[in-house]
Amino acid sequence: MTKGTSSMGKKSGKKNMIYCRRCGFRKYHIRKNKCASCGYGRSAKLRSYSWQKK
Ligand SMILES: [Zn+2]
Repeated sequence: MTKGTSSMGKKSGKKNMIYCRRCGFRKYHIRKNKCASCGYGRSAKLRSYSWQKK
């Protein structure tokens, strides 16, 4: 596989992310069973870090 546009076509097909039922973003990882955006499935509280911008 090469770098650049030619390899981007292989990104379609499998989908790992679905819409999160808590934050509404398409960040819920099916295989990991957790949301990358709000942390749903990982913790009861919202995912937040001190370094993240508001
Ligand atoms: Zn979420």
